[in-house]
Amino acid sequence: MDLPNFAFFRGRIVPYSEARVGVLTHALNYGTGCFAGIRAFWNEEERELFIFRAPEHYRRFLESSRLLRMELPYGVEELTDATVELLRREDHRRDCYIRPLAFLSEETLGVRLDGLKPEVSIVSFPFGKYLDCEAGVHATISSWRRIDDGVIPARGKISGGYVNSALAKTDAERAGFDEAILLDAAGKISEGTVANVFLIRNGVLVTPSVTDGILEGITRRTLIEFARDEGWDVEERTVDRTELFLAEEAFFAGTGVMVAPIVRVDHRAIGTGQPGERTRKLQSLFFDAARGRLPRYRRWCLPVHGKRTNLVAAG
Ligand code: PMP
Repeated sequence: MDLPNFAFFRGRIVPYSEARVGVLTHALNYGTGCFAGIRAFWNEEERELFIFRAPEHYRRFLESSRLLRMELPYGVEELTDATVELLRREDHRRDCYIRPLAFLSEETLGVRLDGLKPEVSIVSFPFGKYLDCEAGVHATISSWRRIDDGVIPARGKISGGYVNSALAKTDAERAGFDEAILLDAAGKISEGTVANVFLIRNGVLVTPSVTDGILEGITRRTLIEFARDEGWDVEERTVDRTELFLAEEAFFAGTGVMVAPIVRVDHRAIGTGQPGERTRKLQSLFFDAARGRLPRYRRWCLPVHGKRTNLVAAG
């Protein structure tokens, strides 16, 4: 990965080398930070970089910060503006990833949340695929359980919570799989390490509901909207592990992974063992929408260089 040239840090854009913290920083010791992961897609015909669903990402970012009792000095508009400014300075002419972070920045001891100053940083860098979206991935059901809402809320994108994902991902890769799927405390499917899980069962698009220990994914919401617009049946509900084995298709959905077909789980083929037709359809809608090529979904694409006439903070 290429390091960024610049960072938004302490309220302004500085060289990346100046965005530094000390080793006693509270968030570094206790995981008391939260973050977002946003993508921007380069559209070659329009010579434009589009940030995908920035207001929705920043709204969730602010929600995560509230769970950590942080009072950030910025709102959705200011964070979005800072991101546009940062991307203009970086002048990326290809797909990139944006990483906003809010963290308790004081260099002090004491495990608590109140009375500690938060800091916000935003960086961006060129970024391609995270998982194989073409051939698909081989996933395993992890022996690590997903963090519960009563432990570290999965609904928040909380830095410390990602130790759970890192444990599951590492063990999956060491055992020869590409990715992990985590079950919740009740043994029901929650999500992947950095993505939501979907399946097609009896022709219906099925995904765990937002109360099943998942991050409320923005890609998840996007794909559900595509599916409904296509006239498909969609169910957001508790999903049993064995439903995955019987599904016609399955895939991961998230900003990093985008739409990645799951073709095998624990050496069992899903459907034909090849990426499915519905998955392919959602993939192509996603890529076209994210590059600003579908007028119907253009409201989700914020142009970095052109005028911001299309921005709608859609819920
Ligand atoms: N679940 C987890 C645990 C994640 O880290 C992510 C990535 N942010 C997702 C789901 C997908 O969320 P989104 O589509 O908003 O990127």
